[in-house]
Amino acid sequence: MRIAVPAEKPEERRVAMTPSVAVRLVEDRHTVVIESGAGAAAGFPDDQYREAGAEVTSDPYSGADLVAVVGPPTPDQASLIDEGGSLVGFLDPFDADELVKVLTNRNITSFAMEAIPRTTLAQSMDALSSQATAAGYHAVLLAAVATPRFFPMLTTAAGTIAPVKLLVLGAGVAGLQAIATARRLGASVSAYDIRPEVREQIESLGAKFVAAPVDESAAAATGYATEVSDETQRRQQEALGKVVADMDVVVTTAQIPGSPAPLLVSREMVERMRPGSVVVDVAAPTGGNCELTKPGETVTHGGVAILGPTDLASRVAIDASQMYSRNLASFLSRLTDENAGLTFDWDDQIVSDACVTHDGRVTHPVVRRSLGLEVEE
Ligand code: NAD
Repeated sequence: MRIAVPAEKPEERRVAMTPSVAVRLVEDRHTVVIESGAGAAAGFPDDQYREAGAEVTSDPYSGADLVAVVGPPTPDQASLIDEGGSLVGFLDPFDADELVKVLTNRNITSFAMEAIPRTTLAQSMDALSSQATAAGYHAVLLAAVATPRFFPMLTTAAGTIAPVKLLVLGAGVAGLQAIATARRLGASVSAYDIRPEVREQIESLGAKFVAAPVDESAAAATGYATEVSDETQRRQQEALGKVVADMDVVVTTAQIPGSPAPLLVSREMVERMRPGSVVVDVAAPTGGNCELTKPGETVTHGGVAILGPTDLASRVAIDASQMYSRNLASFLSRLTDENAGLTFDWDDQIVSDACVTHDGRVTHPVVRRSLGLEVEE
């Protein structure tokens, strides 16, 4: 099939396909077409794609069987995809009415990387996990730069410096990577998650599990957390308040799929922190875990810096692109027939779950619901 990779929005540094993945797809008899400059911000100049056997062009869309992206295209970009073509990427489909309208009007079959089921079978395609790994890692590096302290304990002729006290709230994929990174930098790390089963994972990374309410019922069958009651949230904040006040750095990563991020660090809690402390809110793109977070900005409140980065994975563009494009290639292998053509096996749950639009209609039940369309049970 002819796979096209257009340039992303200017603020996105990642690219959907790296030259090393392009080589593999070309070996598998696909044609790879990349928009000139698409890989530049991720450190992959056009020449590397040419060497990989890809075509470099200013018009990647025409004639493409499938367009591969990192972030959702604008409705105008989606209009450039050939009618009846296909699209794969993070499409943010639960919040993209206009885009979905263009995709159905143009009869485009679209697949959202974020809708791929997070099963063992689909692990190699799990771009949510690979990009959360990049985000959790970089969040700690941002904290290390923002804090006016050393992370590790230092024993020097000028005396001993205590290690930074760092708390990670939410210990999913990003949180566990944040713990591991902070430990490598020598911080004294504690962590907390509403799901009790995470305790063991936190401790196995050498961090201390913070005693705050956990909720057996917060762990959905999918492994994700669900929303907790107001009462649990109140008890959580009460318990975390004392812990947070004693921290030099807090990295928050708690998310609930399909809902705004839970509020874990209130304004009062920030006001009890020492000046010079830092909060890095990895959940900023979905509203943030800290009441004072402003997505995409750094706010200073009473000497405490609250960072709300929304482009963490993009800041690790080379490796995040490498991981993303491997995830993507793994998914594409399920859309490929024995003659390297495009095929849809709707009996394959990974393919059917990830599909957002096909044949001029919205197929994904959650997207249908968000658009007010009838959902077949
Ligand atoms: P996520 O980004 O949705 O959430 C991050 C963390 O926030 C989760 O650990 C969640 O429990 C926590 N959280 C939510 N509300 C909270 C609250 N009020 N207080 C404290 N913490 C709160 O999740 P994720 O990192 O994408 O994945 C979560 C889990 O999904 C993983 O730990 C794993 O169990 C499962 N998972 C499974 C697979 C697989 O089987 N292939 C792949 C990826 C993830």
